[in-house]
Amino acid sequence: MKYASRTQHLMPEGAYQVLARAQSLEANGHKIIHLEIGQPDFETFENIKLAGIKAIKQGLTRYTPPIGMKSLREVIAEDAGHRRGIEIHPDQVVVSPGAKPNLFFPTLALVEPGDEVIYPNPGFPTYEAMIRVAGGTPVPVPLLEENNFSFDLEAFNHLVNDHTRLIILNSPSNPTGGVIPRSDLEQIAAAAQRHNCWVMSDEIYARIVYDNASVPSIATLPGMLDRTIIVDGFSKTYAMTGWRLGFGIMPKDLANKVQLLLTHSVGCTAHFVQVAGIEALTGPQEQVDLVVAEYQHRRDVLVDRLIAIPGVTCQRPQGAFYAFPNFKSFRRSSSEIADLLLENAGVAVLPGSSFGEYGEGYLRLVYSNSLENIELAVERIRLVLLTHLEPVH
Ligand code: PLP
Repeated sequence: MKYASRTQHLMPEGAYQVLARAQSLEANGHKIIHLEIGQPDFETFENIKLAGIKAIKQGLTRYTPPIGMKSLREVIAEDAGHRRGIEIHPDQVVVSPGAKPNLFFPTLALVEPGDEVIYPNPGFPTYEAMIRVAGGTPVPVPLLEENNFSFDLEAFNHLVNDHTRLIILNSPSNPTGGVIPRSDLEQIAAAAQRHNCWVMSDEIYARIVYDNASVPSIATLPGMLDRTIIVDGFSKTYAMTGWRLGFGIMPKDLANKVQLLLTHSVGCTAHFVQVAGIEALTGPQEQVDLVVAEYQHRRDVLVDRLIAIPGVTCQRPQGAFYAFPNFKSFRRSSSEIADLLLENAGVAVLPGSSFGEYGEGYLRLVYSNSLENIELAVERIRLVLLTHLEPVH
């Protein structure tokens, strides 16, 4: 069967593949600790659930405008603008079922064959997929451990040129937990202005930040709001991955194009889900702070125990809920090590290579899991490495 060439490079997300293998081991009686899927282990907060249930009971189950309900767009503009210290008009807000459509559709609206798109590698796999579907040329920029996983600016400055149409940033990052400092953003913004290109700033982990780290948005730099798409959502902050609720903030003209793409694809975002989103943003926020404090504690336990294993090094991530330890001293590919850990330690993790070639040598461990499981997982990892592999110094 011949399929359209735009599907040719599409690959499944590594997390779903490892999950399926882990589940089949579980079906055969193995006990697996899941550190592979990137979602909060907390339930959606009670007030948000109740707002969704009430909305269903009130019959809010019909179509809404494809771009989103006016009341939700107003609340998002207010909250997102306030948090970043910029003025955002509700006309600039596009609501979508999950953040993903607000990655995909602005890319489809902006990028065509011949356009180059710069994106982080290791990075969220959807970036490369959407660039290729749009017919653009993916141009990976390495995130280096020695730069705390910010962009490699030297490589970036060599790669950005007049064919660059879009620069994708993700801070805090999946899979590294790294944050891009303001000084780097200033250089990236200057290049975007010099070469007249757009920036897509995926800020879905912006509220999950540790040690009071500052996570600036490139959209706040002078002149950048006019050429930036901020992508954010409710999945991670409010533990709402399955509700499917996200948003993009972009210039009004682009928002209208994205609205057309939403109209003819997903139609709209579920009405009652949007009502629950209003409750999430306007209701109490202490629960978010408590969850973030808990993640920070788990991060510290995870990183401290990982770096105590001979041959393993690990940066302390500043945001998101991923650790990205370095296993290069074991001289095995990251997928061989991930397989070994799944089969012999009963710990499901993702190989760094599933986030691009510059992720080779690393593993991604999700710490949105109980402290007890995290401690047990690292102990099992330590024993398996000790028995099966020897670090080479
Ligand atoms: N952006 C990044 C960096 C992510 O890690 C994810 C989800 O894992 C998304 C976007 C997608 O979010 P959503 O589930 O709201 O579509």
